[in-house]
Amino acid sequence: MKDTVSANIGKFEDPKWTAKGEERATVSLTNPQTLWFNTGTLCNITCVNCYIESSPTNDALVYITADEVRDYVDQLEDRAWGVREIAFTGGEPFMNPQMIDMARASLERGYEVLILTNAMRPMMRKTVQAGLVELNADFPGKLTLRISVDHFRADLHDEERGAGAFDKTLAGMKWLRDNGLKMAVAGRTVWGDTDAESRQGYAGFYAQHGFAIDAFDPAETVLFPEMDERIEVPEITTACWGILGKSPDSVMCSSSRMVVKRKGEEKLAVLACTLLPYAPEFELGQTLAEAERDVALNHPHCAKFCVLGGASCSA
Ligand code: SF4
Ligand code: SF4
Repeated sequence: MKDTVSANIGKFEDPKWTAKGEERATVSLTNPQTLWFNTGTLCNITCVNCYIESSPTNDALVYITADEVRDYVDQLEDRAWGVREIAFTGGEPFMNPQMIDMARASLERGYEVLILTNAMRPMMRKTVQAGLVELNADFPGKLTLRISVDHFRADLHDEERGAGAFDKTLAGMKWLRDNGLKMAVAGRTVWGDTDAESRQGYAGFYAQHGFAIDAFDPAETVLFPEMDERIEVPEITTACWGILGKSPDSVMCSSSRMVVKRKGEEKLAVLACTLLPYAPEFELGQTLAEAERDVALNHPHCAKFCVLGGASCSA
């Protein structure tokens, strides 16, 4: 799998110290908000630049089950994490035959549920549609589907996802709209639009189709930057927080963990975040208790996406 490449040679190696011998920044789990489950890496399509390299054949992370979700929900309660939300990502979560059961297991325990999906054929199967309608009736307002719409223009979306993908996703979104299911959107910023241009474009797209999604709320229209590991990034030291005026509490691993099941492994594993599914040093243990430990920001993604966000704290 992908890992640090030549631009960052010598960096991001020792969890405690940077290449320059400075103390590496760490993040504590200060405010757990979301427990993520990766439902499995299989996907019905193969997008360009899928950060988790999903495809119809990648089963590096295998399907988790509703019983496994229940076990972690029990742990959540034992550990009193107080999370608000349980979220599911893939791959395409609706490829997993137990997706509806997993969502129900979480909703029954009082959590809000977020499912990331491309809203294509796996979600549009009759049994899944019936399951979604039932969940929405049983737990009104508690279930959100976040749809991947890479760009509001069909031609640009299809560049990433293949010809015809936009129309299929649009059909899925219309079905969700007509059945009163709550939607959010995940877009990408690969094409050089400014944030304002992107949000304006999504607003027009939603208005055209009557989608009740707020283009200007970053939680409802989430815009992701590209993850290019060939770019050189500085390492994050304990001094960076002060230099950037940023708190470790603003970074995802202060508020989330992700549960995965690796192919061939008997036990599930808990990772620091959703962004580094294959990096072994971000696997914190098998239980939520083990996953409460601090995370060393020892990967270019930590620097580029989470801490710097385009800024620089190197001297
Ligand atoms: S739909 Fe999502 S998970 Fe599937 S290949 Fe595309 S980006 Fe990856
Ligand atoms: S990429 Fe690094 S800093 Fe960002 S959430 Fe994951 S572990 Fe934390």
